[in-house]
Amino acid sequence: MAQLDKVVAIKNLTERGGPSSLWHAPLIARLRAPDRDIRISIPVEMDDETIQIFEGYRIEYNNTLGPYKGGIRYHPDTEVNEVKALAFWMTLKCAVAGIPMGGGKGGITVDPKKLSKGELERLSRGWVQRLSDILGPHKDVPAPDLNTTPEIMAWMADEYKKITGDKTGATFTGKPIDQGGSEGRGPATGLGGFYVFDALRAEVGLPQKCRVVIQGLGNVGSNAAQVFIDHGHIVVGISDSKGGIYNPNGIDIKKLLEYKKNTGATAGFSKEDLNSKEKTNAELLELECDLLVPAAFENVIMGSNAMRIKAKAILELANGPITPEADEILFRKNIPVVPDILANSGGVTVSYFEWDQNLKGEHWSEEEVFDKLRIILEDSAKKILTQAKQSGTSLRMGAFILALERIREKMK
Ligand code: NAD
Repeated sequence: MAQLDKVVAIKNLTERGGPSSLWHAPLIARLRAPDRDIRISIPVEMDDETIQIFEGYRIEYNNTLGPYKGGIRYHPDTEVNEVKALAFWMTLKCAVAGIPMGGGKGGITVDPKKLSKGELERLSRGWVQRLSDILGPHKDVPAPDLNTTPEIMAWMADEYKKITGDKTGATFTGKPIDQGGSEGRGPATGLGGFYVFDALRAEVGLPQKCRVVIQGLGNVGSNAAQVFIDHGHIVVGISDSKGGIYNPNGIDIKKLLEYKKNTGATAGFSKEDLNSKEKTNAELLELECDLLVPAAFENVIMGSNAMRIKAKAILELANGPITPEADEILFRKNIPVVPDILANSGGVTVSYFEWDQNLKGEHWSEEEVFDKLRIILEDSAKKILTQAKQSGTSLRMGAFILALERIREKMK
């Protein structure tokens, strides 16, 4: 909540002549705690016929803008405070994207790799059995998150249908396409990041053809790399957990992905592509380029390396890749950061499209999904830029202010 206090302080500074308390008091009071904090125990019959009890959660943080929306994560370290923080984050993320959804998050404390497929299915169905009363297309719409797959979402949607008779399928998103999932969900986050970048590129002073460095070669990083290349930019650096590759003439991503598929890593690719050099992940972040795209995991740009970042701008596709200390340093160095809450909101936006299609009984083409995604993200990116300029703040603070304004407007 420290971020919330900071946003309020900035908003107060930018409000000349108006009683600032009117802007924030009821809103902040509401947002300090979730609407509902639900903990459940889920008994599961294991394959050896013993019963094991798992702890599960659903935090319904705020539904001012629409039904609670947010993923369910399965992880041994998942606990209620983490889920609560993520549910608050979803409240802001949906508001930034400008979609009619509120914020929620769920989870189960479990290492899914230690369960058989049958145990995993019984656990997932158990989560729904305990929570079916509070879920629903107009109440609470869960999605996948860490370690929850389209197959798990299909089990959950099926269990919900059995219990309630609801046939819309709109209570769970992230389902397989043949079971009501949306076209385009796979590349949505990487592609959405590109749309946001494209809307802001000229404003943040980047050239028409950018040299791009991407950290991460998973779903988000690999899709983003391909989209940047398809739009005439050059990806000069990219990495996975084992290290990175740098080629000033541009990396052939398809060839690199093929190499990684065969060998399990990008390391060693310089023997295939003689113009490229191997780099460590630390070196990769500090390469000279127009745009740096952290797309792997959190806290990779910190107080200790922020001063050495040479990119002209940063697009945060991972969640929380820049620490608050590094954020201040980058702001002082005049390196614009397009914040995660906007840059990676393509995923949740297509989740909202899935819900919308299910409720209307429609199935949109991939082209239609991408067109709608571009319109929504371009609009939010431009509004955030205007807000940041008006307030004299970073794009991140501009995004927070826009999110809080949207919630406050609706709350009135
Ligand atoms: P993923 O698991 O598919 O890929 C992660 C990538 O990061 C892999 O290439 C992995 O090798 C790399 N990586 C892991 N450890 C690393 C390290 N130490 N150094 C460099 N690279 C490392 O995950 P993803 O779905 O692509 O998600 C990436 C980030 O984007 C995460 O922060 C996630 O929360 C965020 N995000 C994802 C989505 C989505 O739709 N998938 C939506 C919003 C945000």
